[in-house]
Amino acid sequence: MNKQYINGNWVASIDNKTYPLINPATEETIAEISFANEKDTHVAIDAAHEAFKTWGKTTPYTRAEILKKAANYLRENLTAIAKDMVNESGKPFAEAKGEWTVAANLFEWYAEECKRAYGKVIPTNRLDKRSSVIWQPMGVIGVITAWNFPAYNPARAWAAALAAGCTVVAKPSENTPLSAFYMALALAEAGLPNGVLNIVLGDAAAIGDEMLSNPKLKKISFTGSTRVGKILMDGASRTNTKLSLELGGNAPVLIFDDVDVDAIAKATSVARFRNNGQVCIAPQRFYIHKNIYKQFSEAVTKYVSQLKVGNGFEEGVNVGPLITKKQKESVVNLLEKAKSENAEILTGGNIPSHVEKGYFIQPAVVANLEQSSVLANNEIFGPILPLFSFDNLDDGIKKANDTEYGLAAYVFTNNLKTAVLASERLEFGMVGINEWAPHSTELPFGGWKQSGQGHESGSEGLYEYMEKKLVSIGGL
Ligand code: ADP
Repeated sequence: MNKQYINGNWVASIDNKTYPLINPATEETIAEISFANEKDTHVAIDAAHEAFKTWGKTTPYTRAEILKKAANYLRENLTAIAKDMVNESGKPFAEAKGEWTVAANLFEWYAEECKRAYGKVIPTNRLDKRSSVIWQPMGVIGVITAWNFPAYNPARAWAAALAAGCTVVAKPSENTPLSAFYMALALAEAGLPNGVLNIVLGDAAAIGDEMLSNPKLKKISFTGSTRVGKILMDGASRTNTKLSLELGGNAPVLIFDDVDVDAIAKATSVARFRNNGQVCIAPQRFYIHKNIYKQFSEAVTKYVSQLKVGNGFEEGVNVGPLITKKQKESVVNLLEKAKSENAEILTGGNIPSHVEKGYFIQPAVVANLEQSSVLANNEIFGPILPLFSFDNLDDGIKKANDTEYGLAAYVFTNNLKTAVLASERLEFGMVGINEWAPHSTELPFGGWKQSGQGHESGSEGLYEYMEKKLVSIGGL
């Protein structure tokens, strides 16, 4: 492991380069990882193209058997693989174990779902004609994923693509390669034929360019920033490579004045800081009804100040480090800008005094913010909880929709009418009513506006990797 995984072999990159993988909690080097570029990607695409000739013709039952074995391997080795995820990502051990459980579930779910890729027979307007629609696997898929969920992000796309009968060239994040290596190992142990799943990582732009320009690769599934998503869209316009894009978010949360304020404040302190706020559907802009603003801000400040920050292996730690120095600096920068806009820091925002190393920031609650604040207009991806207020449903919806993003939104109310009207008027791909986890393995995950194209998870996720074909028989 720690190398490129091409055609069933762990190999050094062609240029024999490596890079150090850093533990964000200790700033120590965990491993030297092989660093690839477009040449390695070319070889990997060739291997995947060759493997598709047989994998694409297997029955879904054959594929399901392998994917379910891989899911079981992940479950059996959960503790060991979760430890490596904590080392590379910094997230608390319990969150890492939970993420691997979901990754295993994704493999199992798609193993079952691929048996149900039903087409349809359509009655035609001619007596001598019979028409049907069938689904076929696309071919080689490039899967580029971000570091915030080192197992969940790749698992969503790999499981669906492999179940659909496609082969994969994956480029996980350079920050979190170990989890992807384990997933490849699980699939190999389960009997996945050589070349069906390949991993390259290193020079992201060079790898992405090769994926875009190589005609053997039919589609790129991307999870990451809107910035890189746009680079891929530009490139795809040259080559017509298909794209699924799961991009950034800036989720609003509308909390109405009919809720149990203390209970929602407590739940907020957990939901906002899950994975240190480094989540594309993270609840971010908190709009609190003006009647409960003061009560909510006091309660949430109390709960957030009690969160324990530290190494993900420490007992009782709620919040780990940010992924990189760069990410930490970006969060510090946003806080500085907010302060210059007269924002009031109610708690946190400092470097915790008990840590000497690592990219830690004490979770912050920030108040006295205008809708024009940097904290409303940027995806924070860090441990800041900004508080805004709203007057009524119309005002809340207007403020919530005031963003170029459209991934997730959240509403907390006990009024049925408010819940229904808010869910219909929010311009987002996923709306959670009285819950923080609107997504799930079996549900379609996708964004409106600049948050993406296409869907992952659910049956929609499977069809992202299949082409629809119309077959018409005439002259009968
Ligand atoms: P982040 O900076 O939050 O990691 P990115 O969107 O930059 O988000 O990264 C998501 C994934 O996209 C990572 O695997 C990264 O290496 C990859 N990536 C970054 N730049 C490019 C690029 N120019 N082409 C293709 N992939 C890229």
